[in-house]
Amino acid sequence: MARYTGPVCRLCRREGEKLFLKGAKCMSEKCPFEKRPYPPGQHGQGRMRRPSEYGLHLREKQKLRRIYGVLERQFERYYENAARAKGVTGENLLIMLEARLDNIVYRLGWAPSRAAARQLVRHGHIAVNGRKVSIPSYAVRAGDEIAVREKSRNLPGLREQAEAASTQVPEWLEMNPETLTGRVIALPRRDQIDLNIQEHLIVEHYSR
Ligand code: SF4
Repeated sequence: MARYTGPVCRLCRREGEKLFLKGAKCMSEKCPFEKRPYPPGQHGQGRMRRPSEYGLHLREKQKLRRIYGVLERQFERYYENAARAKGVTGENLLIMLEARLDNIVYRLGWAPSRAAARQLVRHGHIAVNGRKVSIPSYAVRAGDEIAVREKSRNLPGLREQAEAASTQVPEWLEMNPETLTGRVIALPRRDQIDLNIQEHLIVEHYSR
């Protein structure tokens, strides 16, 4: 599956807020957004006008898409499925994105960013219910057991990463840093997804 391979920090500057796409760097003073919190490019500072209504909707959609590292077409498919499912479309969309295997690996604390989690999955280090899964978009379900595969448990830095993150695992997941295993207790509710996203703006974007 294709993915964005351009400069990542540029995306935060474009969206006007930190999207936390690069792990430890995002928390450090090296974060480029701290120094240049305006859109990239020669006329970046000149582009800080008040956006139109359409622009607001578009930016919210782009922001969410970039947080999860999903390309346009795939994001549209998520939206279509969210609109077809029972319940509130915007919330369904967020829950479907949270259920991606690369996001789960990130939320379990086994990788410092979703991009790094995606790499762990792609390289065959992760198993779901005892079977290797190397598809980052794989949709996990409540009750699924996620694990770092036995042959990968000694990857450099992985155990330290898991131990450091073990107190920050969201309440809808559980994780054992010693065995590098985890479980999806339940898919999250909207109030358990800590993202600064106004999903109704995305729904309005697609409903126009
Ligand atoms: Fe965004 Fe992180 Fe880059 Fe800062 S370091 S601009 S938060 S991706």
